[in-house]
Amino acid sequence: MELGFSACGIAKVAKAASEEAYFDQWIAEGCHAGMKYMENHRDIRLNPEGLVEGARSVISVALNYYPKVLRNPVEPYISYYAYGEDYHGVVKDKLRQLWKAITEYYPSRDKTCGKSDSLPPEARVFTDSAPLLERYWAWKAGLGWIGKNTNLIIPGKGSFFFLGEIVTTLEVDTYDSPQKNRCGSCTRCLDACPTGALEGPRHLNACKCISYLTIEHRGEIPAEQAALLGNRIYGCDTCQVVCPWNRFALPTEIAAFHPSPSLLSLKKDDLKALSREDYNRIFARSAVKRAKYEGLLRTIQYLKD
Ligand code: SF4
Ligand code: SF4
Repeated sequence: MELGFSACGIAKVAKAASEEAYFDQWIAEGCHAGMKYMENHRDIRLNPEGLVEGARSVISVALNYYPKVLRNPVEPYISYYAYGEDYHGVVKDKLRQLWKAITEYYPSRDKTCGKSDSLPPEARVFTDSAPLLERYWAWKAGLGWIGKNTNLIIPGKGSFFFLGEIVTTLEVDTYDSPQKNRCGSCTRCLDACPTGALEGPRHLNACKCISYLTIEHRGEIPAEQAALLGNRIYGCDTCQVVCPWNRFALPTEIAAFHPSPSLLSLKKDDLKALSREDYNRIFARSAVKRAKYEGLLRTIQYLKD
């Protein structure tokens, strides 16, 4: 909490057997679209022991990014997660601080699990940076449940969170328990998805998802989906914005995620005339860099006059 995390839990490492069949089917159906890297490291993805030898625990955390101020809704839409500084560095820095604090309390394995060796615990920190089922581990560590929109939902807080993990050889006496799914009969996210990318509860077809198409996809956006972009130029939060659990979302206190005045004031006419220099200046430290200048321009061309 002192580091700014909104939730934290610890899960015991084991193969994610419950996810295996679904993951294989999702890949086989091509729902990962052009994200070919999802086909790699399957076994590590299903068991984090492949990331840290002798891993015993996954410490899962959530960091709030819900913006303090939103862009004018009539102007082109940028996903909330990209308002501030790129999250990779911010989350990893906090995870390293957390790990430092933990190792000050638990400097060797034998103090925590009674083993005879005195090796310091090993650990690696991750945030969207390794073949790791982040939402699954967050669920297993008791942070929340995976909603029908495929996001991790934290009860009383919503889903506008970055997830991060410490995978470690450290063991604890008591692990956290998963939470039950509280979506109930709600289908708001499935109903609101503009492209039908949510083909069923927790079944996302990235080929149709505006987040994928405007951020990860290279080349032209297929005409069928391009016609449904609306004013979205980078990402899409619709399936989160409509989720009733996000009525609890509170603005982030993490200064690095506060939007810059230049991002907040960016208008459609500015974007249509966006030079490479403007792009580099406005998005210098933003996750929007993921789309690259050419990718952003490609999407901007679909904006209606
Ligand atoms: S991000 Fe947008 S397009 Fe993708 S599943 Fe959610 S609502 Fe649908
Ligand atoms: S909108 Fe409804 S169904 Fe979708 S994730 Fe939220 S609670 Fe679950």
